[in-house]
Amino acid sequence: FYNPVVVDIDEDTKQNEKPLQEVLNTARTAFSCGKSKPINFRKKQLKALEKFLIECEDEICEAVHKDLGKHRQEASMGEIDLVKRDLRHTLFELSDWAKPVAPDRSILNLLDGVYIYHDPYGVVLIMSAWNYPFMLLLGPLIGAIAGGNCVILKPSELAVESAKLIAKFLPRYLDKDCYQVVLGGIEDTTELLKHKFDYIFFTGSSSVGKIIHQAAARHLTPTTLELGGKSPIYLDESADILTATRRIIWGRTMNAGQTCISPDYLLCSKEVEEKFLAAARTVLEEFYGDGDVKLSPYLSKIVLDRHYNRLMNFIKGSNVAIGGSGDPRTRIIAPTVLIDVKPDDPVMLEEIFGPILPIVTVNSPLEAINFINERDKPLALYVFTNRKDVKELFLNNTSSGAVTVNDVIMHIWADNLPFGGVGASGMGAYHGKFGFDTFTHKKGVLERGLGKIAELTQFARYPPYTKSKGQF
Ligand code: NAD
Repeated sequence: FYNPVVVDIDEDTKQNEKPLQEVLNTARTAFSCGKSKPINFRKKQLKALEKFLIECEDEICEAVHKDLGKHRQEASMGEIDLVKRDLRHTLFELSDWAKPVAPDRSILNLLDGVYIYHDPYGVVLIMSAWNYPFMLLLGPLIGAIAGGNCVILKPSELAVESAKLIAKFLPRYLDKDCYQVVLGGIEDTTELLKHKFDYIFFTGSSSVGKIIHQAAARHLTPTTLELGGKSPIYLDESADILTATRRIIWGRTMNAGQTCISPDYLLCSKEVEEKFLAAARTVLEEFYGDGDVKLSPYLSKIVLDRHYNRLMNFIKGSNVAIGGSGDPRTRIIAPTVLIDVKPDDPVMLEEIFGPILPIVTVNSPLEAINFINERDKPLALYVFTNRKDVKELFLNNTSSGAVTVNDVIMHIWADNLPFGGVGASGMGAYHGKFGFDTFTHKKGVLERGLGKIAELTQFARYPPYTKSKGQF
């Protein structure tokens, strides 16, 4: 599974392995012929993508359960519903989005036509991470199809069952020339990246994001990087602590904390910390009962042994206020809260990506803001407060991909908000119109008449240059 560069295991057509060059040539030819461009064709493909999600829902949930132990409801919500919502929104709006826009004209162009066309880039590469193997691949695909591009999809090799399912089933629904799936590990991806694409959309870690950016630079290929990092929470005494804690614990334990916008650490005062810990014990019992939480069907597993060991090492040697245990056989870690955490503790030096929440105490919102601003720009920032001045302080003095006030993660569900990072957490954005815009080049078009009146307005630009012409 890891070695073949390209696997197209569509049993209907018996097209088995295809050499990479053939895959790329097929996409290039399809784009050059204009196959992916007509609006009706794009809509048909988006509807087919929706059909795939509806008809394969059971298989999708099963694959995600095998890969990550995700509960069916969590899988439906994160992998299917979110994508369907974006699909329906895009289908509804696409005809409008795709129309050339006529911006306001200045006096210089009063007699001209001035337009912005939304050109597809061409053949685009979409690479994704393993933690939401369907949503992270199919979400950007919506924008790429809507924009009229041909697409090479590269799922993560770490969500093995999901990647196999995508390679096997998706080609049964989508046009086989315009949209193709390529499987493979690091070696194969390195080979893939040597080829020229017209756009690269990457979801993954910041460290691999740099590799992708360098590979793209060799061909001057524009890139969107959806990366990760540590997304902080600030919680103050004015918030309803029980409600805030329920939302925070949900966000930190969903998919076992393996969510790019999962709240990574908590900044609060010592007094708020005490209230938070009491509330967290109540909430965890509410969610997972009073037995061994590791046996709960609602907790996902950690994707690999390597990551399980990395996470358990964070816990070892830390002051554990809640949880702290793990089962290496199932790779399930009990939701864990760490206290007395120092800024240079290992758990604070990298994205955790697990169900562990360290608390760093601060004495004021300003101290929290300084703490955040001294570090890489987060993908998401969460502020829990009922104080308008505190909310404004964070909104106006920090930089992050997004902010949610008094909740976590839910900004991803808000229609019409861009989803993306800034600085080390990424560049570019997608979802809805932002996805369409990401995958289309904005081509400025000026159209001028050749008639006498049009030409009269141009006299000042031609030699011989005279003083009077210079005044125009
Ligand atoms: P990753 O960077 O290891 O892998 C992502 C993709 O890159 C995979 O397809 C993989 O095959 C490929 N890849 C890995 N190493 C490579 C290399 N050396 N050369 C070329 N390609 C390579 O990330 P991951 O472990 O799959 O995902 C976890 C990370 O992704 C976390 O940091 C998380 O925050 C981030 N993430 C971000 C978002 C977002 O929307 N911003 C969403 C999910 C995950």
